[in-house]
Amino acid sequence: MNPEGMLLVISAPSGAGKSTLIRMLCRDFPGFGFSVSYTTRPPREKEVHGKDYFFVSREQFQGLMEKNFFAEWAEVHGNFYGTPAQQILDSIREGRSLIMDVDVQGARQIKNSLKRGVYIFVFPPSLEELRQRLMQRGSDPAGVIKNRLQNAVLEIQKSDFFDYWLVNDEINASHARLKAIVMAEMLRPSFNPDLIRKITSGERHDS
Ligand code: ADP
Ligand code: 5GP
Repeated sequence: MNPEGMLLVISAPSGAGKSTLIRMLCRDFPGFGFSVSYTTRPPREKEVHGKDYFFVSREQFQGLMEKNFFAEWAEVHGNFYGTPAQQILDSIREGRSLIMDVDVQGARQIKNSLKRGVYIFVFPPSLEELRQRLMQRGSDPAGVIKNRLQNAVLEIQKSDFFDYWLVNDEINASHARLKAIVMAEMLRPSFNPDLIRKITSGERHDS
């Protein structure tokens, strides 16, 4: 009996360090896939089409929306972002675990529609630190950073439905806490549906 894959949904205000943490987590759990979203935002330097996002025009995005291609979509900071539904369902049903990086509105929609998943919200240690990280990343002009900081407050205020709250203060400590969440989730009975049968029938199981 194969368990369903784990659906790990991670949200955070932009600049809190979610991409950095997800990159670290992907190295810990190389079997985990990453759900690649579609966006109308232009690519940042070093971002790769098909790996970070599928970068599409507004017209293409609209066309996909009309075909119900997305499990959820949202307008964030003036750009559209959407999660392809089939990709998530195929992956989970085949037992492959998946990490998703979506904004708070998207996470809520996915929780309501798929009724499964582990929901983690990453906080910055403070708004001032968030501002500094956005400046240091150097990928957004000053006006965009101001807008992202205002959105951060709204997102934090709506984060009560997540299963875990992770404050990303020191990166290695935050990474260890995130890894601990995933390891604990792997010990749930639903993730090990065959364990009772195996042990009672005399088989050995190593984690
Ligand atoms: P997000 O994906 O949430 O928008 P990033 O992962 O791009 O955020 O991180 C934003 C910036 O902050 C990057 O320059 C990153 O290197 C830096 N950063 C991430 N986590 C930390 C941390 N714990 N302490 C200091 N800087 C961090
Ligand atoms: P960025 O432009 O910094 O990559 O992402 C901006 C915001 O859009 C982030 O909060 C990110 O989580 C969110 N986002 C990325 N992909 C999706 C998606 O498919 N759906 C939704 N709802 N939000 C997304």
